[in-house]
Amino acid sequence: MLDCGSGDCRFDSCRGHMQLSTPIEEIAGIGPAYQNKLKRLNIKTVKDLLFHFPHRYEDFSNIIPISQVEEGKTVCVQGKITDIKNIRIFRRRLVLTEALINDNSGTLKITWFNQPYLINTFKKGDFVFLAGKMSAKKGRKYLSSPAYEKIPSQFADSSENEKKYDSFHIGRIIPVYPETEGLSSRWLRFIIKPILAKLKNEIPESLPEKIKEKNNLLQIREAIWQIHFPDSLEKAEKAKKRFAFEELFELSIFVLRERMKLAKEKAPAIPMNIELIKKFIESLPFKLTDAQKKSAWQILKDLEKPRPMNRLLEGDVGSGKTVVAAMATLNVAAAGHQTAFLAPTEILSKQHFKTINEVLKNFNLNIGLLTGKESYYGDEKIERKKLLEKIKGGEADILIGTHAIIQDTDLLTPQKTPVQFNNLALVIIDEQHRFGVEQRARLCRGSGEQAKLIPHLLSMTATPIPRTLSLTVYGNLDLSVIDELPKGRRKIITKIIQPKEKKATYEFIREQVKDGRQAFVICPRIDPPKSPAENLGGQDLLLDARSLSWMDVKAVKQEYKKLTEEIFPDLKIGMLHGKMKSQEKENAMTEFKEKIIDILVSTSVVEVGVDIPNASVMMIEGSEKFGLAQLHQFRGRVGRSDFQSYCFLFVDTPGIVYNRRLRALITCDNGFELAEKDLAIRGPGDFTGQRQWGIPDLAMASLSDTILVSRARNDAKEILQKDPELKKYPLLRENLETFQKRIHLE
Ligand code: ADP
Ligand code: MG
Repeated sequence: MLDCGSGDCRFDSCRGHMQLSTPIEEIAGIGPAYQNKLKRLNIKTVKDLLFHFPHRYEDFSNIIPISQVEEGKTVCVQGKITDIKNIRIFRRRLVLTEALINDNSGTLKITWFNQPYLINTFKKGDFVFLAGKMSAKKGRKYLSSPAYEKIPSQFADSSENEKKYDSFHIGRIIPVYPETEGLSSRWLRFIIKPILAKLKNEIPESLPEKIKEKNNLLQIREAIWQIHFPDSLEKAEKAKKRFAFEELFELSIFVLRERMKLAKEKAPAIPMNIELIKKFIESLPFKLTDAQKKSAWQILKDLEKPRPMNRLLEGDVGSGKTVVAAMATLNVAAAGHQTAFLAPTEILSKQHFKTINEVLKNFNLNIGLLTGKESYYGDEKIERKKLLEKIKGGEADILIGTHAIIQDTDLLTPQKTPVQFNNLALVIIDEQHRFGVEQRARLCRGSGEQAKLIPHLLSMTATPIPRTLSLTVYGNLDLSVIDELPKGRRKIITKIIQPKEKKATYEFIREQVKDGRQAFVICPRIDPPKSPAENLGGQDLLLDARSLSWMDVKAVKQEYKKLTEEIFPDLKIGMLHGKMKSQEKENAMTEFKEKIIDILVSTSVVEVGVDIPNASVMMIEGSEKFGLAQLHQFRGRVGRSDFQSYCFLFVDTPGIVYNRRLRALITCDNGFELAEKDLAIRGPGDFTGQRQWGIPDLAMASLSDTILVSRARNDAKEILQKDPELKKYPLLRENLETFQKRIHLE
């Protein structure tokens, strides 16, 4: 282990009186550019840095003699550089660095591409560790683009075990950090290790002793060392488990406390109007599914109580959530109260406005639409100011709009007249998962007597949520699930398309368009990556070779060009991606809706609830790169009418027919089943929109561990029952505050 207290410590960063709270600016060796990169990852202090965990490991502990290296294998070797030179290959604009290293058993050739500076890093006679994949050309073996680490000369000649060099990158199990903001794992290891060695005994224990014992968890000091620089992969797992448990535990405490907080608030009690509900159901041109009826009943029952409802209505795309929501708003309006209905985009709010107007047309309600640009009242366009008067005066029963409605209730931005309700009782939000009590209270501001009340909340989502997730992340919400689709829906035909079948598929799409249909094309990213370095964050080429598969991922812009110029020059193609301005996005969607565009090429932004009933083809490029649940969401964009619809899963890797995930998609069309399968097959990844909630990585990654999740939740419950204010656990309380801030920043 490093002895940082000693006089000959090599690390500048170990000087001075560093503490956990020391800002990163004061760490020697982190310049302004790196400070900024760290800050973008929310790493501001030494503590944040130490709690920035690797996401996987590479086992480089087994160093073998050069004489034993085999072609095709990943190997670690150690030796002396006997030659190094740069060779320019002008034709391919490459610089090739070639070196020879020698140990007592043999000599090996090394090559690096486009890293000419390496010639300054290594000199003849230097001792190095190298780790990489053995390749061969014309029978001669060489190590290509290996990761490297120089061995300081004072260690180089030492005999085994005496003055052993404690390496950073090779010769041990090494941590690989998520390579974001251009921070390489190499750099992070170099910075984190000496600091951790110096400070690890100052890290306070944040988990109660009893809970640690009960769940057989490591102490924090041991765990934090082992998670960064594990002695073995088993130790790394144990360390991860400790932190995963802690995150799940804190998450559970957080949601349980939100639940307790809300239970103390008051809401307007809305009596259930059975006669009216019956009339509504009879007025529909279809029969409600049993799941719709059950969900509606649960919602109406909640509304009757003088406590704010906090309910999530979960249902696959097309399962008919909007009708259920309409029923609740009707009941609320009949009791003389108002409803606010929020959607994430203008398009979606217009869509809801249309649907709600349609299903409630026989009931004489006043329905308004308010977006950043325009406002409607019933069928008519109306001035924003006029609409606001009708809302404030209580004439409007339902206000549908974007989240701008909430922003506009902010009395601190006086340039706009704030939205004020007369007697708001229900807030419905579509596809947004976090909506705090404060935000709800704010919507009631200014409504006289009502101001002390919290409106009921109905949140809707088409994202199927695995059980463990609903226990933790959504633990503060009650769940209503619509787990069946209306009868008579046609099954969407799903097929995996091999590269050689592409042409025929394009022809099929052309036929569909000629029949009047439309198609989506989904690609995994916007621009093609410029170089491997951009993708991989520089030098850790080998360590992250897995990400190389992203190199050939279809990029939206490229695909748009190809489809417009080569494949479908006769058709109208549109483009949609997250880097476009919101106005441009809206325009693209509107043109698609109005059939001006035949084929829309898009990134995953098209995922959320957009309804284009005329679209019958969903074609997904590089489908093996997406999560199952996400693919299912894409597929749900088609099949929303009587036309037979198709989902084509293009694959870049030939022979991927046997991919388990894609096959699951062909045989299964139930989003909930797929979500559970996805969790089991590949772990949670980010398929459920982790970023959206700010859920800690390890908690997220361990959601497939049902036992760990329920243990954390039970322990959280127990602790809160005994000590709701967490008076005995100041550190835990502090962690929760950080956690809460993070979530509220979303
Ligand atoms: P979701 O919001 O869950 O994706 P919607 O509420 O938009 O689904 O419903 C999708 C379509 O199905 C709408 O056109 C709606 O009128 C229709 N629909 C809803 N419920 C039923 C049902 N029980 N039977 C037949 N059609 C239905
Ligand atoms: Mg919907």
